[in-house]
This record gives sequence, C-alpha cells and structure tokens, in this order.
Amino acid sequence: MKAKLRQEGSETVVTFSGELNERAEETLSSLAPSLSGNVVFDWGGVSTINSLGAGYWIEFLGAIARVTSYRFVNATVGFVSYANAIEAFVGKGAVETFEVPLYCAKCDQSSRVMGKAADAEPPRSSCAKCKGAREPEIEWSSYVTFLKR
Ligand SMILES: [Zn+2]
Repeated sequence: MKAKLRQEGSETVVTFSGELNERAEETLSSLAPSLSGNVVFDWGGVSTINSLGAGYWIEFLGAIARVTSYRFVNATVGFVSYANAIEAFVGKGAVETFEVPLYCAKCDQSSRVMGKAADAEPPRSSCAKCKGAREPEIEWSSYVTFLKR
C-alpha cells in the first residue's frame, strides 16, 4: 500500500492506493509519526484488504496520537465489511462517503456508486443501459451497521 499526502486548507489528505496486506506495515509505520491535526483518509484507491493488513491498520489508528480528528472518504466495499466486523477499524473516525454495490435486475449488471453517510439511505442511481432504477445489491441496514455505532 502507498500513501500520498497533500494539504487542503487546514486538513491533511492522505490518499491510499494498492493493497492493505502484510506488506503495508512499512508504509503505515512511517506515515504515523508524520501526521497531526485534522486528517482525511481517502480510501478510494485501496484494492484489497486482508486480515494482517487490517491488523496493521488498527495499530496505525492507535499510533496517530498527534492527529486531533480524522474522517474517511471513498471507503471501498472491502473497507465497509471490515468496518462492520471490527469497530476499531474505523476507530474515532467518521465515514463520510462509501461505495455501495447496486444492481440492475433487468440487465443483470452490478455497479458501485458512492453513498453518503449523511443521506442514511442507499444512493439513487439509474442503469446506464436501460435507465431503470438500480437496487442495492446488499441488505442495506446491515451494510451500514458501521454508521450506527
Ligand atoms: Zn438496466
């Protein structure tokens, strides 16, 4: 996994890419001491997560002592499933936007659309092919368990 930092106003935006796996320890342990203040973690580029990587991630959230607040944007489906299973995966951060798998039954096509935590309901989206409404491919209320804590 790689991390790119940029400053946006008073916030540091950290954009992750690649796989969160056993090799993510180096990236995360060198990143932790360089972060402070208000941080946004952009997860849009993280392709896969495994349990070893998730462990390093939880350690990382525990190590960023100089960070006063952090939030997550573009959380992937993988992120959401870990967030639902392990509270510490999100820590004290709020998830603002996250992927929602949607499905068009007519065309038998899946797609992923970004949902907003503030909306509290599945994102509305119409199928690119038939223009019909896409439905969540997941059971919505259990998919957003992580938002209800
Ligand atoms: Zn369709």
